[in-house]
Amino acid sequence: ILDIRHLNKSFGTHEVLRDINFSVNKGEVVCIIGSSGSGKSTLLRCVNLLEKPNGGEILYRGENILDDNQDIYEYRTKLGMVFQQFNLFNNHNVLNNCIVGQMKVLRNSKEEAENIAMKYLNVVGMDQYIDAKPKQLSGGQKQRVAIARALSMEPDVMLFDEPTSALDPEMVGEVLKVMKELADRGLTMLVVTHEMEFAKEVADRVVFMDRGVIAEEGTPEQIFNNPVEERTREFLRRIL
Ligand code: ATP
Ligand code: MG
Repeated sequence: ILDIRHLNKSFGTHEVLRDINFSVNKGEVVCIIGSSGSGKSTLLRCVNLLEKPNGGEILYRGENILDDNQDIYEYRTKLGMVFQQFNLFNNHNVLNNCIVGQMKVLRNSKEEAENIAMKYLNVVGMDQYIDAKPKQLSGGQKQRVAIARALSMEPDVMLFDEPTSALDPEMVGEVLKVMKELADRGLTMLVVTHEMEFAKEVADRVVFMDRGVIAEEGTPEQIFNNPVEERTREFLRRIL
């Protein structure tokens, strides 16, 4: 569903991504791992066009969305994004957080938007909290609402950028559990994570990034039990 080809990104003279190639097939979970500063977030931000790549192609359903004639706006509604910081609307309650995008962007009616929002709040186990404001929620609860909000747009692909790294340790599990459930339901997911157990258990493929390049890519089994590259082994030694 996504095909990244020869993607490059520089900030000034600093080359942050170099010749990145990988794809995400429908229903697949692809995890991106790698050291701090290796370019994981920049890659995700290029995929959803929060950053403009300097070169290469991003094919979505076979069309290069970097071509001038492509409808970027339409494309971006097909991607859901969950960040490390939840970025909820703090002055809106939980239910409203999950319906405003639907009403503004998808032009859903309020009733329709509420039905869809309830469906996904139920999936993440937050349907009992629809009237709560974000500040009344724990970090794990906020992140689950952020996931429900993204799902409420019914995207084709969900992008996650370290969704658990801002959480207190005791809340990491509940968010990973929800993400695992989404994977089991067949959602297509591209996940930047430091949670190696999650990657091992849930990913169909793991992409290891090192200083702006994909150093190695493979099944969790290959990457974690049988890495070919010395830098992959070195990274895993450090992190595990
Ligand atoms: P982390 O694990 O810490 O989140 P990361 O792998 O997500 O790291 P990026 O945030 O993508 O890494 O950063 C990759 C490199 O790009 C870093 O050297 C960073 O300083 C640089 N960088 C990122 N965003 C910008 C920007 N807007 N302007 C200039 N340099 C940037
Ligand atoms: Mg990052």
